[in-house]
Amino acid sequence: MNLSDSEIIIGIMKENGYENVNSLKEANIILFNTCSVREHAEERVLQRIRNIKKSKQNDMVFVLIGCMAERLKEKLFMEKSIDLILGPDNYRKLPEYIKQLEYEKRVCDTNFNNEETYSDLIPYRQSNVTAWIPIMRGCDNLCSYCIVPFTRGKERSRNFKSIIEEAKKLISENYKELYLLGQNVNSYYYDGKIFSDVLESVAKLNSDVRIRFMTSHPKDLSDDLINTISKLSNVCKYIHLPFQSGSNRILEVMNRNYTREHYLELIKKIKKAIPDVSLSTDIIVGFPSETEADFLDTLNLLNEVKFDSAFMFKYSPREGTSAYLLNDDVPENIKSERLSKVIDIQQNISNVSNKNLIGTNQEVLIESYSKKSDAEFQGRLGNNKVVVFPAHRNKIGETTKIKIIKSNSATLIGELV
Ligand code: SAH
Ligand code: SF4
Repeated sequence: MNLSDSEIIIGIMKENGYENVNSLKEANIILFNTCSVREHAEERVLQRIRNIKKSKQNDMVFVLIGCMAERLKEKLFMEKSIDLILGPDNYRKLPEYIKQLEYEKRVCDTNFNNEETYSDLIPYRQSNVTAWIPIMRGCDNLCSYCIVPFTRGKERSRNFKSIIEEAKKLISENYKELYLLGQNVNSYYYDGKIFSDVLESVAKLNSDVRIRFMTSHPKDLSDDLINTISKLSNVCKYIHLPFQSGSNRILEVMNRNYTREHYLELIKKIKKAIPDVSLSTDIIVGFPSETEADFLDTLNLLNEVKFDSAFMFKYSPREGTSAYLLNDDVPENIKSERLSKVIDIQQNISNVSNKNLIGTNQEVLIESYSKKSDAEFQGRLGNNKVVVFPAHRNKIGETTKIKIIKSNSATLIGELV
């Protein structure tokens, strides 16, 4: 979501005559688009600001955008470290506020605007293969640990037609993969249209273009949506479905509005309807009052479902959320131990799931050269697994057949067929 927001922000700046530069030295304005979901993310931004400030020239403008701006506005404004503070609903006014800084020392706008979806703006896209399409903003779910509803405001769905128009334009510009984004795409609702309508309409524009989406909430992933995913050949058979905890007691305190049994039933339905589906999840360990037994429930669920990958986090108390009022009573060393354990188990599961693909032929969409070398391409299979293979023929943006010959827990290695 933040990557996609950054593309919108760069789009706004470019429209107004600003240009990206390649090094800090050349910059007149530094924009930080920020995340508040865990304390660690915020600490990293503050550290970077401190480091850059050491070398700051007097005329350099510092702009803090996004969730941290929303959450820490007063504190940051008082600290005078930032010139402009802009919340997630205020990107449009960025150029205007930068001009305002010519006669005002500091500017801050973190007002929410429940109508804002930036649907008419043209993002400056970083990839010319995959395009993010935000279809909604904000979140109303109020999971007890989560700051997002307070930093990104109320949930709002983007105009249905504007999504379809954007998708059509991207396809005409030769994009090969469209990624529909929202904090909880399952609750998309605009003028009678629900998420499966969006998915189906976008997928039917061109059956050669891959469609992905993220994130789904287990409390409202419907049978209708599972059916839509299974029947459309170009919708990637990959679902990110965070379960957070395997313990019903913890799920209740997290205010997730589903039980472990509901989650497992959902997984059963998904695997039945989409046999080649690939699944990923998010897990929080060390939530207040999590006992060894609660944690075992999480491990058991992890072992039972066998996700292809998982994003795993230690609980991080966020001021303003309802869980912040609970006693953060799981000691740091236990949180770390539990995190290592889930990571270990998941790594083994991912290893097995990747090894199972060795010897198979797969279609891969080539996204870029590999991080290590220009002699290798990096791409993704429909199931979201990353594969690296020799760059003899083909071009970035093409789909090609490869044979998987090796793997580790994160990456597959392939050869051309
Ligand atoms: N809307 C998405 C998630 C957005 S935040 C969803 O509901 O699935 C991404 C992930 O960060 C969450 O799924 C959760 O696992 C993690 N997270 C959010 N708040 C957290 C906190 N306070 N401490 C630790 N992890 C947190
Ligand atoms: Fe946060 Fe829950 Fe909303 Fe996801 S669904 S953004 S975890 S409040």
